[in-house]
Amino acid sequence: MSAPQQKFTPGRDPSAAVMGTYARQNLVFERGEGSWLIAADGTRYLDFTSGIAVNTLGHAHPRLIEALSAQAAQLWHTSNLYRVAGQEKLGEMLVAATFADQVFFTNSGTEAIEGAIKTARRYHYVNGNPERQRIITFKGAFHGRTLTALSAAGNEKHLEGCGDPAGGFDHVELNDLSSVEAVITAQTGAIMLEPILGEGGIRSASIEFMQGLRALCDSHGLLLILDEIQSGVGRTGKLFAHQWAGIPPDIMAIAKGIGGGFPVGAFLATKDAATGMTPGSHGSTFGGNPLAVAVGAAVLEVVLEPGFLETVEQRALRLKQEMARLKDQFPDLIEDIRGKGLLSGIKFKETITAQDVVLACAAQNILTVGAADNVMRILPPLNVSGEEISEAAHRIELALQALSTAAPPPRDNKS
Ligand SMILES: *Cc1c(COP(=O)(O)O)cnc(C)c1O
Repeated sequence: MSAPQQKFTPGRDPSAAVMGTYARQNLVFERGEGSWLIAADGTRYLDFTSGIAVNTLGHAHPRLIEALSAQAAQLWHTSNLYRVAGQEKLGEMLVAATFADQVFFTNSGTEAIEGAIKTARRYHYVNGNPERQRIITFKGAFHGRTLTALSAAGNEKHLEGCGDPAGGFDHVELNDLSSVEAVITAQTGAIMLEPILGEGGIRSASIEFMQGLRALCDSHGLLLILDEIQSGVGRTGKLFAHQWAGIPPDIMAIAKGIGGGFPVGAFLATKDAATGMTPGSHGSTFGGNPLAVAVGAAVLEVVLEPGFLETVEQRALRLKQEMARLKDQFPDLIEDIRGKGLLSGIKFKETITAQDVVLACAAQNILTVGAADNVMRILPPLNVSGEEISEAAHRIELALQALSTAAPPPRDNKS
């Protein structure tokens, strides 16, 4: 046993009480206003992380405060033993706005993925094809941190030390239709795609690839599952990223942006794809909690207001122009500007690491977030102003300037 006096040492770093699974920045925020986060000492940070694509409408949006406060004064929780009016309201809104006929509410993205996988497998099970349980997934994708979601993505670093991965997944290359076709067998039941790899470095599935996957699913009797947890709810300028390809999925997982900062997720399905989701097949104590769905409905109402998504596209265009300017200004550092809408990223050359840029940006009071493939994600709230985008670009420019003076990029003969 460890010594008790060590456990109770006064003045010890309070952050040690939280498990060290994140390499956290030493920043604590006290409140938020729109696109800004404010530390206890009053320092203002431009928030171009949005809690990793979560704060769709920025911080302290009056409509969300109103929805949450009104529900908090009325009713917090009853369980799914009873009908939940707010679930039915948000469910109907999602059904009206998407391909789906039915929705199941969860508390997180990972749970939505688990539910989507169960829905696909049970579809084949109740349709007399219980052997069709294998799911084709894509290398570099991220689907969450439960053991099955980790197995679906197949990232070895994430799975390390966690025991045997869950079986039933075939991992293939993104944007390579022939490699997808090559692994389809009589045991395959579904294909699961993140339309734009978020954690994976803002790598987009091409429109032709998505259309090709839809066609493969149709010709082989497979279900198409989309993970729109990061790309959904207006982030790319359409309500969902797959709408750019004009193809509907059969099942879709959402979370992050739908709650605007309140934990809520969901999986959506067509009536046909949901045939296996019969009484007793799935459940959640908290999923679709009245507080969560009240906030979710308020977020969706704002995002669906006429003109909202058009404004997202305008802001995205301005961001793209600003980033193109930075790429011209720092050709030794920036390799590429990636993404769609406000799900955007800068890919850096080997001269610099994205994490160094994230920290240099934080030193200029702008918050961004890294991703795989040496990418820094830029994820402002969807209601960010044009001026804030230009201010952000200015601060990123200062960060890149600071980095290039601190360590001038090598100018050897390496290409
Ligand atoms: C964040 C994310 C998840 C996991 O969501 P959690 O709410 O963290 O469980 C799954 N898939 C994608 C694409 C994500 O971005």
